Parts: sequence; C-alpha cells; structure tokens
Amino acid sequence: MHISEESGGPVRGIGMSSGEELLVRKIRDGTVIDHIEAGHALDVLRILGITGKKESTVSIAINIPSGRLGRKDIVKVEGRELEQREVDKIALIAPKATINLIQNFKVTRKEGVKLPPKIVGIVKCTNPSCVSNCKEPILHSFIVESAEPLRLRCYYCNRIAEKEDVLKQF
Ligand code: ZN
Repeated sequence: MHISEESGGPVRGIGMSSGEELLVRKIRDGTVIDHIEAGHALDVLRILGITGKKESTVSIAINIPSGRLGRKDIVKVEGRELEQREVDKIALIAPKATINLIQNFKVTRKEGVKLPPKIVGIVKCTNPSCVSNCKEPILHSFIVESAEPLRLRCYYCNRIAEKEDVLKQF
C-alpha cells in the first residue's frame, strides 16, 4: 500500500499477504525503517513528525510476518534521512528496528538502532518534583538500564520511566 501525504488520507494497515516487496513499493531515495515491533508504526510516524500534511511520501506496512519478530511494521519515508535524535527516539520504542538509507533504489547504509547509555533532553522525568522539572537550565537526563523492556532511570531522582511513559511524550 502506498500513502501519499499529499492526499491526507487515513493511515490504514495492510494485512498479511505474500512477500513484503509486493506490499510496499520500492523507493528511490529516502529511509526505510524496518523491523519495527508490530503496533508501533504510527508511533514512528509521530516521532518523525509525519502528520499527512506535508509533501513527503510515506508508505507504511503493518503486521508483516517476520522471522525475527513474529510480526513487524515497516515505514518508508521518501526523500529524507533521519536525524540522530529521531533515531534515538525510535530506539526507545522499537529497539530491534533497522534504519536503511536508500539511494537510487539501493540500500547504501543499513544499521540497527542503538540506545546510547544516557538519554539527554529527549524524555521528561515523570516525577513532578524532580529537579529536572523545576529548574529550567537542567536537561532531562536518564541512564538506560535496559533497552528491552525499556527501563530508564532518572539521573537526578532515580524515578524509572518505562516504554508507556515514553510513548505518552512522543
Ligand atoms: Zn527525575
């Protein structure tokens, strides 16, 4: 299935069928985010700021059978590379995702997302009295204790943030 952002149409998933290549069209230049844990394609779109109101063309595939994950989602964004900050956010919610850079229909770079040991300025602490919520110049900062299941420990107050807390903020 192909969704043009210009159409502003509803985002719909496609069901099971043979071979993902038949389901999602190839792109000439852009980024393919593969091996997204099933159910998180729309979260990835949100992270990338894809609202359906800009000109970029985006294809998504939902619930594709995958040997590694059982089921997976795929997002293809044409004419765009991801920023490191976007990749870090995707790593938080889809730790097995792979980012493929496509140039002239070929994969020119492929790498798995990887959470840095520390997450700074991306996720807010859920403790309202945490110093990072009170004093403006302090950046929210978390130590990554575990990527899967996601477990972040606030550097300042030790409050734990899990995947659900993070998803609410994206
Ligand atoms: Zn805190």
